[in-house]
Amino acid sequence: RLADMPLRIEGLTKRYAGAGDRYAVRDLSFQVRRGQVLGLLGPNGAGKTTTLRMLMGLIRPDAGEIRLFGHLVTPGAPVLSRVGAFVEGAGFLPHLSGRANLELYWAATGRPAADAHLAEALEIAGLGPAVDRAVRTYSQGMRQRLAIAQAMLGLPELLILDEPTNGLDPPQIRAMRDVMTGYAAEGRTVIVSSHLLAEVEQTCTHLVVMDGGRLVRSGPVGEITGSGDTLLVGIDIE
Ligand code: ATP
Repeated sequence: RLADMPLRIEGLTKRYAGAGDRYAVRDLSFQVRRGQVLGLLGPNGAGKTTTLRMLMGLIRPDAGEIRLFGHLVTPGAPVLSRVGAFVEGAGFLPHLSGRANLELYWAATGRPAADAHLAEALEIAGLGPAVDRAVRTYSQGMRQRLAIAQAMLGLPELLILDEPTNGLDPPQIRAMRDVMTGYAAEGRTVIVSSHLLAEVEQTCTHLVVMDGGRLVRSGPVGEITGSGDTLLVGIDIE
């Protein structure tokens, strides 16, 4: 049933003003089922961020349809509380602690106080005693982890993460991988973007490979990475 499907997109298309006839995303269609970790894979400029921002309601598609849990996403509509999103450069109040920032964020969603959720998210962030220090003292990696934890507050059924491992060191990347697989193993769903095949290969159950704004391959991760597909050559950049 459509209502059980976390995400389904049809013909999603976006061309930025001033980009001439260059499409950032062109006629993109795919769906994600419950329990999947879907990797959106492609080189820089493939259209991953544009796709995720349209899903989050941050930018308006020129054409196409987005359905979250069967609901048609319309511009200006409030983001469903069933969806959590991480994008680069999330803002925090620098003079408040990490904990206070998450408390404030949660309060702003208007949902009832849930200490368990907050504790869970802070645990995921793995900041240790630094959760009670001002965010302005945090390293880039710590801010990143706090932002990811914020996206997970309330354990949304669908978690959308745009390049969550950017700027993290190898142990943090491994921890992030475990967070994503654990998250989906409990019947929730994750969509994560990356330009590194090696990274999504170990985390994702399914892949959508994009290049030049278009879908070039999609399917279960083993079918794609095991195919020796020449389309994937050149994807693993940096
Ligand atoms: P990256 O990994 O570098 O973020 P990406 O796969 O996420 O790449 P997008 O950021 O979605 O790709 O970019 C797709 C195309 O749209 C690129 O050609 C990019 O230059 C262009 N683009 C992205 N944002 C804008 C914008 N705000 N205005 C104009 N063009 C843009």
